[in-house]
Amino acid sequence: MRSSNLAPYRISQLLPQDINLRDGEQQSIRCPECHTWRRIRRGMVWPHHPDGERCTGSSRRVILDITVEEWEQRLTEAIDATACRRPTKVTPKPKALPTPAIVQMAHRRPTPRQIPGQRAAEWAAVLPAVQAADDQRAFRPVGATPACGPEVPTESLRISV
Ligand SMILES: [Zn+2]
Repeated sequence: MRSSNLAPYRISQLLPQDINLRDGEQQSIRCPECHTWRRIRRGMVWPHHPDGERCTGSSRRVILDITVEEWEQRLTEAIDATACRRPTKVTPKPKALPTPAIVQMAHRRPTPRQIPGQRAAEWAAVLPAVQAADDQRAFRPVGATPACGPEVPTESLRISV
């Protein structure tokens, strides 16, 4: 069987999950033209007719320009990247409260910014808890580093009062 004159598919340019090069399994490819899984035989995409007509991906040469080990590495990285994605979380929009009347605003409590001494006392009160959190953060467990997850800050943020 002759191969197609159209440009060959290079493994390095395909998504790793769109090809199967596992040892002991039939090599296959998700045809870039019709997006169906097809066998790779004799170094080409096996001819197929998904809609009754010959797909242009038929008989295209498949060039293994990376090793099977490199493909497996790319596949592992793609799976890790997918596992790290967070599900989309829908956050409901908070309801807007009615604006208080001017008479009601006049009797509001002063905010901490309006009382500087009180703010400093509040910072001093939480300082032991902050120090304890910093000490806990400095402790590093023994073992392998997780493959995915958000970066955790390791430097303490110091705010002078
Ligand atoms: Zn096809």
